[in-house]
Amino acid sequence: MDGVALTVFQLISFFIHAIQPILVPLCLLLAWGLMILLLWSVIAAIADTIRRAQQMHKIPCPNCTFFTKNYHLKCPVQPLIALSEQAINCPDFCATRNINWDTD
Ligand code: SF4
Repeated sequence: MDGVALTVFQLISFFIHAIQPILVPLCLLLAWGLMILLLWSVIAAIADTIRRAQQMHKIPCPNCTFFTKNYHLKCPVQPLIALSEQAINCPDFCATRNINWDTD
């Protein structure tokens, strides 16, 4: 068993010495590749978050007359799509009117 382990270590040692000249450039490329992948992932996540936020801001329900602000029934007209992305082109959207109830 020790003879096999010694042979394996000798093989590994020979292999490391054989690739020594290209090891430094290879590690440099791998390190920069990882850094570029990490940066790419962060940029992609930020872009996706911005795209998602823009999509969510297109939901018209908070500015609709029929929006109740009640968690149990957000909208009596379209209760299944209220406050979801499906409500973006809601045919029943009616812009909120500012009604001043003060009679002074
Ligand atoms: S009618 Fe349409 S836009 Fe208005 S609150 Fe209901 S789902 Fe939203």
